[in-house]
Amino acid sequence: MIRFGINTLDTYDVNHKTVLCRVDINQPIDRERGTLKSTARIEASVPTIRELSQRGAKLVLLAHQGSDIEYKNFYTTKPHAAVLSDLLGRPVRFVDDVCGPAAREEIKSLKPGDILLLDNVRFCSEEQTLFELKLQLTHEQQAQTQVVSKLAPLADYFVCDAFAAAHRDQPSLCGFEQVLPSMMGRLFEREYIVISELMEQPVRPCVFVLGGAKVADAFQMMDTVLTNGAADQVLTGGLVANILLLAKGEPIGSGSEETIHKFGLEEMVPVAADLLKKHGDKLILPATLAYMEEGYRREAALKDLPKDAAVLDIGAFTANQYADIIRSAQTVFVNGPMGVFEEPETELGTKVVWDALGDTRAHTVVGGGDSITATTKYEKTDLISYICTGGGALIRFLTGEELPVVKALRQAAQAFDEETP
Ligand code: ADP
Ligand code: MG
Repeated sequence: MIRFGINTLDTYDVNHKTVLCRVDINQPIDRERGTLKSTARIEASVPTIRELSQRGAKLVLLAHQGSDIEYKNFYTTKPHAAVLSDLLGRPVRFVDDVCGPAAREEIKSLKPGDILLLDNVRFCSEEQTLFELKLQLTHEQQAQTQVVSKLAPLADYFVCDAFAAAHRDQPSLCGFEQVLPSMMGRLFEREYIVISELMEQPVRPCVFVLGGAKVADAFQMMDTVLTNGAADQVLTGGLVANILLLAKGEPIGSGSEETIHKFGLEEMVPVAADLLKKHGDKLILPATLAYMEEGYRREAALKDLPKDAAVLDIGAFTANQYADIIRSAQTVFVNGPMGVFEEPETELGTKVVWDALGDTRAHTVVGGGDSITATTKYEKTDLISYICTGGGALIRFLTGEELPVVKALRQAAQAFDEETP
């Protein structure tokens, strides 16, 4: 079966076939001890892995593991094999090699149902994230890299289940589709469905809540969803709101302006001005704001902010106004906290908004690393309709760009069309 022009796991019979499956089981790491701090993404990858194994595939898993200082440290994926094995209730083999002779021997020895996890694909220099931007390999060139040219000849099919990495243009993600019949995994499919429905046919009213610090992404997303009509309203907080207020000529305090300067975000001010001109009526800006004074939280309406204030949260009045809008919406998408929620004095706005997400009847979708942290912190994980594993991929998708992995999978569906049984 084909969905979105991509083959699903239902397309090919994998029984007795060698299947290479790229997953995203990258987890926060305790750098001192080298242990995993969460297993959420590993758990999310289980359905596809279990299904392929149960259907008799000789299953080879490819994955990366970064660190909190992204791109700087590389960890083995060995601990992930143990976690997977526990979750699946069956052995998961591990080999400390990616595509060398040891890995290839292990792959050749697999029996139907066996699962083998290869070591961190980023141990191959071609895969490293900064290379992606510097080298800009075409998908054809990616097929000639070590990882693809050594492993593909041993395999019958490629599966990509790494939706969270779908915005990365790297060999292990986009190269195999050039040479193997390819499919998306179940997690990939589900995340794709949830976010494309959100974009194409949201139940209305549909509200986007955009805060946090990734201002360029938020602005691009805002413009897309307000131009194509996906969003009826956009509620703003965090640095995103501060910059919109500044662009409107509001006095947000010299401390706030310093923060904008420190993050190098001045260039976003004219972008904000354009957005206000284009979509002013649908962009909701906070009317009250919070700042710190002598170690205490203070709140004020915009016009009453002290000259030197550094705005670190939305005010309680605004937070409650946002909560009311969220409670009467049918679809709510959230990316980015309302303030510096890591500190108790400036978490109120985020907490009130997240409480509303927990008890609204609306379909709620949360994406983004810090937003997911907030969801866990305020114990809303079970109450949110969908928590998207991908931050970067989700944002890129919502800005309307075709993701590199989606493009590669679509091309594979056409190229290997005739082989469909
Ligand atoms: P996500 O990871 O959910 O996509 P971002 O990374 O864009 O979200 O933004 C989260 C960060 O923004 C948090 O670390 C938070 O402290 C910070 N932040 C939010 N509001 C402000 C503010 N007013 N001033 C400075 N930092 C802020
Ligand atoms: Mg973040």
